[in-house]
Amino acid sequence: MLYVKADLHIHTTYSDGVCSPLEVVHAAIDRGLSVIAVTDHDTFMGALRARDYVKRSRLELLALLGNEVRTELGDVLIYCLEEVNASKNLLKLIEVSQDNGCLIVPAHPFDILRLGLGNAIFEYRGWSAIEVWNASANKRANKRAIEASRELNLPGIASSDAHIAEYIGIAHTIIELNELSEEEVFESIRKGRVRPYFGYPSFNLTLKRIVKSVKHMAWRTLSA
Ligand SMILES: [Zn+2]
Repeated sequence: MLYVKADLHIHTTYSDGVCSPLEVVHAAIDRGLSVIAVTDHDTFMGALRARDYVKRSRLELLALLGNEVRTELGDVLIYCLEEVNASKNLLKLIEVSQDNGCLIVPAHPFDILRLGLGNAIFEYRGWSAIEVWNASANKRANKRAIEASRELNLPGIASSDAHIAEYIGIAHTIIELNELSEEEVFESIRKGRVRPYFGYPSFNLTLKRIVKSVKHMAWRTLSA
């Protein structure tokens, strides 16, 4: 039996992250992670790049395909074995996920300012797990998400929602596996063989993230 560290919510330059997929991969290896998912907003591109790079370079890391989809009701994470057409309609997205054997997980559900689904998570069925801890969300929102996962009897995932390298792995999920493969990770999450690690960034790191993100946004606006 293997117990591996996974961070399943990371952004790259394919959305609003500061690091390229390649930089994310190396930061994840440095942090001792065995599994990551790049989850850029409304695209699998960052994740595809990360997975290609890992495979080409034969690195000791599993890079899953992920996408943080902005549905009409809020942000939802979808993880698939191959790229799918991710609808922005929540009901359709759940259907696509089921048809393609993907995992579907509400992102920071009670962080309303950052477009969590809120109580809508109780109105839909088909969730694979809930993001119960997001290192970029406030503690109250995370506490409510933990309660919701208990009410719905769903596995809980903890992730960094990293937009800068230093955040990667701060919060993570320990996954129990028989072997390190994408299928096995999906199966273990579905079966709840997971343990969320509730980490938060330090105050200084939070400041650093804000400064870096603002600088990055300004640079992108100027160079657009
Ligand atoms: Zn995110």
